[in-house]
Amino acid sequence: MEHLQLFLMVDERLYICRSLSRNTFKLQLKPAIGVGSAFEGWSPRKDDAVYRLLIPLKPPRGHVFHLELGTAEEMSARNCSVHVELECTCLRERLVGDMLCFLHHPEEELRKNQGPSLLGTLCTGPYLDMEKTTRWFQILVKTAWVYLPCSRHCRLTVLPSRHSCKLRLTNASQSTLLMEIIFGVEQDDSNTFLNIE
Ligand SMILES: [Zn+2]
Repeated sequence: MEHLQLFLMVDERLYICRSLSRNTFKLQLKPAIGVGSAFEGWSPRKDDAVYRLLIPLKPPRGHVFHLELGTAEEMSARNCSVHVELECTCLRERLVGDMLCFLHHPEEELRKNQGPSLLGTLCTGPYLDMEKTTRWFQILVKTAWVYLPCSRHCRLTVLPSRHSCKLRLTNASQSTLLMEIIFGVEQDDSNTFLNIE
């Protein structure tokens, strides 16, 4: 199968993932960016190319991200931790009415009427947890896959991985494509993306 076709398929699948994640307080997924291909050690066949995509993450409604850069040495690798905070959405609550403010409603009322905040799902303490995020995304990918017509003649395998999502697509003639999806955040609308630790 042509690689280009597969890429289009992947983009379509990620679009479905984005739609599925829109109505929750989970992460918002922006369109994937191709960050090249490489020959990597994790493929069982040494000569398989691995296509790498970066998905920029955005906070859901009512949340803000503060990026904390690592030490000078780590910064050269463009890594950061994502500190998640809740923000007041009382005004949005009055004008749009699509959510309750996490900060200004009693916990009991929030528990009854809306899903948990990102802090209660994909974070450890106040920080975005990439292992939890990866597990969540792997489930999302598997769920989205069944909605695609190509899932009938192409098999998707989610390979075990803790900090990125590694996928193998196999078509009817047994040719495979390996893909690694990594997560990033945009630094100050600069079009520069940092890897999340
Ligand atoms: Zn508020």
